[in-house]
Amino acid sequence: MKTFKAFWIVLLFTIPLPLIAQVSWKEPESIDTKESKVSTASGQAVVVTANPLASDAAIKTLEDGGSAMDAIISAQTVLAVVEPQSSGLGGGSFLLYWDQAKKSLYAFDGRETASAQVEEDMWITSEGKAVPWIHATRSLSSIGVPGTAALLWEGHQQFGRLPWESNFEKSIHLAKEGFIPSPRFLRSISLAKKLGIKHSQPFKDLYLPNDSLPAQNIPFRNQKLGATLNLLAKGGINEFYRGDIANEIIIDLKLGQNSNKEVQTITHRDLESYKIQKRHPICSKYRSWKICSVPPPSGGGVAVLQALGIYERLSDKYWSKDTPNRWHLIAESLRFADADRSHWIGDPIDWPVPLEGLLEDEYIEDRANAIRINSKTFSPLPGEPKGSELLDLASQPRTAGGGTTHLVVVDIYGNVASYTSSVETVFGSRHLSGGMVLNNQLTDFSFLSTISGKPIANRIKPNKRPMSSMSPVIVFRNGRPVMAIGSPGGWLIPHYITNALIGALDLGLSPKEVVSQDLLSVQPNYTVLEKSGNWSKVDANIHKRLTSLGHQIKYTDFSSGLALIKWHEGNWHGAADPRREGKAVSLHVQKKT
Ligand code: GLU
Repeated sequence: MKTFKAFWIVLLFTIPLPLIAQVSWKEPESIDTKESKVSTASGQAVVVTANPLASDAAIKTLEDGGSAMDAIISAQTVLAVVEPQSSGLGGGSFLLYWDQAKKSLYAFDGRETASAQVEEDMWITSEGKAVPWIHATRSLSSIGVPGTAALLWEGHQQFGRLPWESNFEKSIHLAKEGFIPSPRFLRSISLAKKLGIKHSQPFKDLYLPNDSLPAQNIPFRNQKLGATLNLLAKGGINEFYRGDIANEIIIDLKLGQNSNKEVQTITHRDLESYKIQKRHPICSKYRSWKICSVPPPSGGGVAVLQALGIYERLSDKYWSKDTPNRWHLIAESLRFADADRSHWIGDPIDWPVPLEGLLEDEYIEDRANAIRINSKTFSPLPGEPKGSELLDLASQPRTAGGGTTHLVVVDIYGNVASYTSSVETVFGSRHLSGGMVLNNQLTDFSFLSTISGKPIANRIKPNKRPMSSMSPVIVFRNGRPVMAIGSPGGWLIPHYITNALIGALDLGLSPKEVVSQDLLSVQPNYTVLEKSGNWSKVDANIHKRLTSLGHQIKYTDFSSGLALIKWHEGNWHGAADPRREGKAVSLHVQKKT
């Protein structure tokens, strides 16, 4: 029975919004100007990451004969040092990996888990209200068992070609000898300060000594992180979940608990029992391509596949060269996908997510048929996919985010990796251990576990993984990979990626054009256009036409961080989003077998 859904939907987006007015959930990862040059590269092996030092480390790894997985490890460990506001060993990640020798696609879920001891009302105050989001972001209770180290290890076991340890050389060097802080790194420290850092003396000591930002021109060092990376490099994964690193994490959490009088944190046992999940990738046909991503607990992949499926049907039906129409249809497709995402997605450990039903052709057709070319739908409701018959759920408010990074790699052997990694808010919880930023990913759970007695799919439960929006994508044509893409951006990740895929595949845009095009996002009742875009300047018609179809338009700047590679005429071409500091690099070598 899914009656009165409209009522639950009215409650959507109500919980964290008042707080977000003070510290915007997109603000934590600020925007670099689009005027800056887009970094691009072409070759047989290409890397795109959010930071030049990470891209350079990854390409060196490929040069040394490493696989895409080795390059991911090199880049991720460097990012932990130079972009700690977005990802690191204290966070979680998702990997989509094409193994060229086996001609197989793998999805690894290294998402954080809640402690076995977590209580369902963790984010509820004694008055029965949701804990203010901003408080939750710095709480010890927000720290899930980190999964990134385990994902890198498992990935290396399966796909690595170079010794594990050698993939840590650059990051250890940078942590110990220092690096020149990037403008974004410095801005992120200021943002973390705004979000609150009083609870974390180690954060203040490292990132704001004497209450001032690190100097712009002096190498910034993180000796403790260097030592942690060294332990992991030498001792392997047991160091992290059972050894010295684990001990230090638990000691630091206990210390924090004493001063903050908080009760729920992860334990030794939680660390020891952490396992990544090897899941089946989800794939759907889009015109002549096959688009693949990761399944729940991320709702991002489902949203991208649904939005594209709906959009394909609509554009087939209403196709015209009319640009405003296209944007109307994209906005509607995203809104319908979002309604399902808020309602049906959670970690399948708790509920049987109706995944097949959500991606089934007939269902997508039905969703598309509910959309009209001549008017915007008012707040679409979730659908009723096959497999949902016994579920009577409420929709959850959309979650906030900010601390995430995406990287793509194709190596000289033809393996392709699309990898998204996060600590959730900027610098995660701002709690540090062993120089690592500890995530606050458990704020991605719905703070309320029920609404008027109806459970929420993404409610908190012991050992459960919070719903994510991360959507690493690999695109195939005729059985071979032709594109890999992803982005940070919290709830908006699937919006950015859908925009980008339509640009790259339908309009044939180059990677540089894809990352430079203006972006569109949605809320249930608003259509959000990129403020610095050309919407109103070049084509005022778009604003007018969308408004005439019933869209209420808001303008904002987006902090997407698209990283993509696309196959074209015998080469891979990569580009990094100019809204961040990313860099694309390539190798020109003879293919090895
Ligand atoms: N924690 C968010 C998620 O897993 C990502 C945050 C971000 O991208 O900014 O969806």
